[in-house]
Amino acid sequence: VMLGDAYAFIDPVFSSGVLLAMNSGVIAAEAIDTCLKTPAKAVAALKKFDALMKHGPKEFSWFIYRVTNPIMRDFFMGPRNLFRTKEAVLSMLAGDIFGKTPIWSSIRAFKMLYYIANILQPRRAYLGWKRRRFNIRKVDDDVVYNA
Ligand SMILES: Cc1cc2nc3c(=O)[nH]c(=O)nc-3n(C[C@H](O)[C@H](O)[C@H](O)COP(=O)(O)OP(=O)(O)OC[C@H]3O[C@@H](n4cnc5c(N)ncnc54)[C@H](O)[C@@H]3O)c2cc1C
Repeated sequence: VMLGDAYAFIDPVFSSGVLLAMNSGVIAAEAIDTCLKTPAKAVAALKKFDALMKHGPKEFSWFIYRVTNPIMRDFFMGPRNLFRTKEAVLSMLAGDIFGKTPIWSSIRAFKMLYYIANILQPRRAYLGWKRRRFNIRKVDDDVVYNA
């Protein structure tokens, strides 16, 4: 199995790597234990492991794709705790997304506020979207190696 940074490296600006790595160790130990003790359940155990491993990068990708947007920057520079969004985002950025911490309704509220702010500032939203589309694009390997 691949764990921690070997599985997925997320920019340290999100401060989630250590918790994600430790969590991956715990769920891998559980999956391997099942494989060794009850091989008949190995496929299901590895499938569950795989789904849990994808959970982290999937949740973080929403923030990764938007963190450079000026509207998101406004949110971070003037934090408010409407619907406990500040606590939820801090928990999430620390990687606390696997346990029972009740963050998800506040995370949804945060995303909703972000979309509303984008609708209210269409020009900034469009420029942010355009920049993101340019920054996050597939690059030919040859171009990278020969640069
Ligand atoms: C500058 C920076 C700042 C960061 N800040 C934070 C932060 O504030 N909060 C946070 O949560 N995360 C942070 N991270 C991310 C975090 O450090 C990693 O996500 C986490 O350490 C990953 O753990 P890991 O066990 O997967 O890998 P690592 O911690 O990299 O451990 C891998 C180990 O394997 C060893 N190794 C490699 N190859 C071999 C080999 N062939 N044989 C034997 N041993 C080998 C390495 O020496 C290393 O000790 C930061 C990362 C960086 C680079």
